[in-house]
Amino acid sequence: MHQIRSDIAIFGGGIAGLWTLARLRQAGFSTVLFESKALGGVQTTASQGIIHGGAKYALSGNLTESARAIGAMPGVWRSCLDGDGELDLSRVRVLCDHQYLWSNSSLVSRMTGFFASKAMRSRMTPVGTDDLPQPFRHQDFSGTLYRLEEQVLDVASLIGELSRQVGEWCYRLEPDELQFQAQDGGSHLVKMPEYGVELEAGRLILAAGKGNAGLLNKLGLATPAMQLRPLHMVVVKGDLPPLFVHCLGSGATPRITITSCPAADGRMAWYLGGQLAEGGNDRTPEQQIEQARRELVELLPWLDFSASDWSSLRIDRAEPKTTGGMRPEGCFLHSDSGVLTAWPTKLAFAPRLAQEVQQQLEREGVTPHSGLLTGMERLPRPSLATVPWEVPQA
Ligand SMILES: Cc1cc2nc3c(=O)[nH]c(=O)nc-3n(C[C@H](O)[C@H](O)[C@H](O)COP(=O)(O)OP(=O)(O)OC[C@H]3O[C@@H](n4cnc5c(N)ncnc54)[C@H](O)[C@@H]3O)c2cc1C
Repeated sequence: MHQIRSDIAIFGGGIAGLWTLARLRQAGFSTVLFESKALGGVQTTASQGIIHGGAKYALSGNLTESARAIGAMPGVWRSCLDGDGELDLSRVRVLCDHQYLWSNSSLVSRMTGFFASKAMRSRMTPVGTDDLPQPFRHQDFSGTLYRLEEQVLDVASLIGELSRQVGEWCYRLEPDELQFQAQDGGSHLVKMPEYGVELEAGRLILAAGKGNAGLLNKLGLATPAMQLRPLHMVVVKGDLPPLFVHCLGSGATPRITITSCPAADGRMAWYLGGQLAEGGNDRTPEQQIEQARRELVELLPWLDFSASDWSSLRIDRAEPKTTGGMRPEGCFLHSDSGVLTAWPTKLAFAPRLAQEVQQQLEREGVTPHSGLLTGMERLPRPSLATVPWEVPQA
């Protein structure tokens, strides 16, 4: 077996793994990343790309811990996107500089706590009639549109850029192509017999989303436990205007959240989440599409969807287990026996997670060394994952 050495081995090439890889390499740690399918893999490419600032988590009228914790994230991302942050993301395409929030007048009275809260008022600005974005400039539009300080990113371009920056340390490795062996002091041997390679890594970071459960099992670790929260998203492709909005309903989750991205075929793809997706798990794809169509026609009756193509996508959010299966408040990191298990729980939390990883390594006295990576070139390289609106429909 060819012996290789690195400070850190990361498993999973979604936003958590890629951001952490970039930060650890910057800090001088010899770090490699193993991805079982494609970079940007599962939840990250299926996400809506909103850099949340917490507005959506305050809809209950209380500024929850989630809303508080995530409040700093838009600023961190904005400086990266401007090219002067911890990572240079100035090449990443920002689809919209502001996500909007739309409420009709009957809702305002039901959500007085939310709209009256001082903390919320600083995060959202009412948009005057003259400044309404194009899809809302219609005589039938009613209610109030608020501008949120939350950018919406083209996730494919984000993954492409991170892969350009750190792809040389990323390798493709299927779970059944590796075996782990714990060593003294928290390090592990990662054995890859098919490639004749054995990597000694000072620490393992599990950032494999849903795949963390299988990796923990393989490592013989019973904790941390994982929960999956399923979503049933909808894609509408057509001659549509770009639209980025949370349409409020009566509950604590927006009735529907719409983001948009120009598709490769020249049409606009709308990607629909929110309560529609959270409450749509028992619906068949046909029922879910019908539900989405009904909601859009009701909300935006002046737009024509008759020539649009519709599809739906089932996808799980992978998170640490919480009491009652609730949404976790912040990003999550757990360290045990040299294995750091991570779930960012939000794309927006990736910088915070990477920072927590660095702080944890410092606490454990793990310092950068020069790695010995000759031999890794025997492993294949992962490709880039495809966003839902570019996946060919059967
Ligand atoms: C529909 C949807 C919409 C969302 N919208 C937003 C949003 O607008 N804003 C926001 O902030 N958050 C959003 N989120 C949450 C956000 O997408 C996730 O929290 C985040 O992308 C998780 O990143 P990750 O890197 O942990 O996981 P993933 O993106 O799932 O990546 C995990 C990677 O690990 C790989 N893998 C699995 N098993 C193994 C293994 N054994 N070995 C190696 N690799 C493995 C997978 O192939 C995958 O590439 C959304 C989530 C969903 C599902």
